[in-house]
Amino acid sequence: MNDAPDTTSPAAPGALTLEDARLFLEQHARTTTWGRRGLAARLDVTSFERTGAFDVVFQSYTETRVPEETHEPYASGPVDGPENGRAPGPWEILLKMPPLFTQDHRVVVRVPHTEQVRTCFRCKGGGSVTCSTCSGGGRVTCGSCGGDGRTTETRTTTETDAQGNTSTRTETYTSTCSGCWGSGRVTCSTCGGSGRVTCSTCAGLGRLRHFRRVHVHWSTRTNSRQIEKTDLPDQLVGLAGGDVIHSEEEARIEPGRGGEGGAGPYRGAFTRVNADVEAAANALIALHAFPEGEKLHGQRLVVRAVPVYEARYRWGKETRTFWVFGTDRRVHAPRYPLSPWRVGGAVLGGVSVPAALVGANLLGQPAPPPPVVPPPHVEVVAKPVLPEPPPIPAPPPAPKVLEKAKGARPNVTVGKTAVELRTDPPGMDVFVAGKKLGVSPLWITIPSRGAGPCKQGTCALGRCTAGACEPVTKVEIRGAEGARIVEVAPSDGELVELR
Ligand SMILES: [Zn+2]
Ligand SMILES: [Zn+2]
Ligand SMILES: [Zn+2]
Repeated sequence: MNDAPDTTSPAAPGALTLEDARLFLEQHARTTTWGRRGLAARLDVTSFERTGAFDVVFQSYTETRVPEETHEPYASGPVDGPENGRAPGPWEILLKMPPLFTQDHRVVVRVPHTEQVRTCFRCKGGGSVTCSTCSGGGRVTCGSCGGDGRTTETRTTTETDAQGNTSTRTETYTSTCSGCWGSGRVTCSTCGGSGRVTCSTCAGLGRLRHFRRVHVHWSTRTNSRQIEKTDLPDQLVGLAGGDVIHSEEEARIEPGRGGEGGAGPYRGAFTRVNADVEAAANALIALHAFPEGEKLHGQRLVVRAVPVYEARYRWGKETRTFWVFGTDRRVHAPRYPLSPWRVGGAVLGGVSVPAALVGANLLGQPAPPPPVVPPPHVEVVAKPVLPEPPPIPAPPPAPKVLEKAKGARPNVTVGKTAVELRTDPPGMDVFVAGKKLGVSPLWITIPSRGAGPCKQGTCALGRCTAGACEPVTKVEIRGAEGARIVEVAPSDGELVELR
């Protein structure tokens, strides 16, 4: 109950009767999954009282201006330096302020006459810096094999014997890494192998325009307190509809000096607000202390009266409470009786539902009267989650058939051989010795000459194959994810597939 004098009680917007309250409660029960339908009209209500609540909302609208020294790449153009005049301080810059109590608004303003062009401190004016991915070396450890040059693969084979029994065998084997062709190192994709990248600080221009800017932030801070004397959770009052009984807006609202009769913060207001509201307002005002750099533009204090109706009812041996509150007639009914049919249905999982209860609900007939003893506390539990059965091993996927090169195998001269290069995905740019040959899949022509007695890797041709040496052609493949270099030799055969 509110012990404030009648003159300061929230206005009664057409007092709610108990019958109205029962209707709102029934409406509420029907929006819930478990609340018992058809019960509100018959509840054994033992008391019904109108009380009132106040929602006190205090807002401050402030502005901060934080300067920052920064820079941007500079190519050319006029520079607004100190020779053009004195640079204004952060608060000397004239800005159009958004309307009072805008929630959040930020702008960044360049301060005039603070510009200066200097050589880029990062690249010393050169426009490029050492690639951090490869530390300038141009090559990095192969990601596919971790630098080993070989990868471990598994292969599953299914065999069927003469009796028709099938057996599955999984074996592991190592193969030359297709990412690095066995070398363990690949071209750095960040710098394309050059070891240097464009300086991001100056965008490669070598010069920077230094200047000062100010980050301006307007924001509204809102805090509220609710004065509510029943067990209704206070925060619900803040969300409910109410009538504004006091509204005040000034550059700065001072705390009241206490006492009744519109003293302190309520000067000029027509409505008298009680001592509880004044104490809440003073506490909120004290909460809004701002550091020196934060400029206060305005404060607002709004008090709303929110009607609250509290009803107690008997349920078995217990007394329970529900509330109808707010001008929008919200309902708070904790521990409201649950529908036995609905609870039964959920817990039993539809196994067995008393026929009488089902019939009563389906036909819309009155449900059985409330039981004398409170219904047992029924916990609604989720269906148990059974572990998934182990997945059936899928057969190993058939190797994807890569897109074929267009056109027939080209004719080659003596000492050359044609190789078809297929890639997954297709559409990669293919380069040899820096010259673009085309887009994969395609036929390329490589030298076949030079194969001869093996010199154990000292012939500089590139590859030892079965006791002979043969030339190796470095082919660079470039796609969206980067570039890689593969070595192709006649012994690779007519078809080379890159995945
Ligand atoms: Zn630079
Ligand atoms: Zn690099
Ligand atoms: Zn590798």
